[in-house]
Amino acid sequence: TINIIALDASGELVVGVSTSGYPWKYPGRIGDSAVPGAGNYADARYGGAACTGRGELSMRVLGARGIVADIARGLDPSAACLAMLADAATLPDEFRAELRCLALTPDGRHGAAAGQAGSYYVVMTESSTGPESHPRSVLS
Ligand code: ASP
Repeated sequence: TINIIALDASGELVVGVSTSGYPWKYPGRIGDSAVPGAGNYADARYGGAACTGRGELSMRVLGARGIVADIARGLDPSAACLAMLADAATLPDEFRAELRCLALTPDGRHGAAAGQAGSYYVVMTESSTGPESHPRSVLS
């Protein structure tokens, strides 16, 4: 899955998510990418969020919607991403460490989280000379 969150100069904010490339995908499985609220969610008032990895988990907790709701309640994007992963981590799923997420707010704050270290996301702004890589916060 590829997650993209874009913000334009007018404050419009959109999320784009590729369809699943999840291993062991079986016929008929849709995955979280195509499920608004699970793999993707945007509300230009508060922010956008997207998930990748173990889609069963983001579908069960409505991960992207939960992240945006937490941002609306005042959490910064990284904290909101970590809160969603912490919630998903209480579900019985042997692949729960493989859920990752990212978020962006209308004022340009961004953050991301993963269940394991070594995962990065990329930011580009008008003033970027190239993609800027940021480590995701890691759920401890
Ligand atoms: N989230 C996708 C799914 O569960 C997998 C992926 O990130 O490639 O369908």
